[in-house]
Amino acid sequence: MKITILGFYGGYPYDNQATSGYLIQTENYNLLLDCGSGVLLKLEQVLDPLQLNAVILSHYHADHIADVGVLQHYWQLNNGIKQQPILPIYGHKEDQANFSKLNWTNATVAKAYDPDLTLKLGPFDVNFLATKHPVTAYAMRFTERKTNHSFVFTADTAYMDALVAFASHADLLITDTNFLAEPTGAKWHLTAEESGRIASEAEVKQLLLSHLPQNIDPKKLVTSAKKVTNSKLIVKYAATGKVIEI
Ligand SMILES: [Zn+2]
Ligand SMILES: [Zn+2]
Repeated sequence: MKITILGFYGGYPYDNQATSGYLIQTENYNLLLDCGSGVLLKLEQVLDPLQLNAVILSHYHADHIADVGVLQHYWQLNNGIKQQPILPIYGHKEDQANFSKLNWTNATVAKAYDPDLTLKLGPFDVNFLATKHPVTAYAMRFTERKTNHSFVFTADTAYMDALVAFASHADLLITDTNFLAEPTGAKWHLTAEESGRIASEAEVKQLLLSHLPQNIDPKKLVTSAKKVTNSKLIVKYAATGKVIEI
C-alpha cells in the first residue's frame, strides 16, 4: 500500500500546510484517513477527489474533519466522473450530532464503524483502539489482506501502554507527536520521546512523526524520538506530499 501525507499539523493549518489527512492507496482503492483543514486542496494535487472510495475519520475535532463539508460540496457539485455516486464516510457513532453530519443528500453517507469489530474496507482490514483524548477517538490499524502489510495510525492520544501491542510489528507507524517536551497541565498528545518508545517497543519498521506543532523544528522531534529507538528503526517527520510505500 501507498500512504501519501496530505496534512500533518495539529490544531490548525499553518504556512500553507494542512492539518490531519492521509491518502491510503492500493492499485484500485483510494481511502482518505481524516479530512482536516486544507486537506481537500492537498488531495486535489495528487488525486481527483471523485476517485475516492471511502473516507474514515479518527474523531470529530476540527483539525481532523474541517474539510468534510467542502468535500461533500465537491461531491455534490462537481460533475466529473465519480468512482461511485455516493461517497461513504466512516466515523464512530458515540457523538451522534457529528456523526449525522457525515450525511449529505445525494453526495455522502455516514457509515458507523464498530470499534470492537474488524471493518472490511476494500482491500483493508481495519482494527480500532480507543485512545486517551478529551473526546472519543480511535487509533486504527490498516492491514492489506493481500500482502499482510500494516499501517498503524495513533490518531490523537496521550501515552497509553496499549498502543505498543496495537502497533506491534507494523510496517509503518504514524504518531501524534505534538510535543517536544512534557507540557504542563493536561496532556492529550504524545511527546517525541513517547512516540519513539512506542515504536521501539512495538518493533515497528518505520516511524513517522505527525500531528506536529507549528513552532518547533521537526528535526528536533526526530532527534528526541531517536534517543530511545534502536538504530535500525527509521524515524522521519511528516511533510506534505511525502509518500511511503510499504
Ligand atoms: Zn488533532
Ligand atoms: Zn483531537
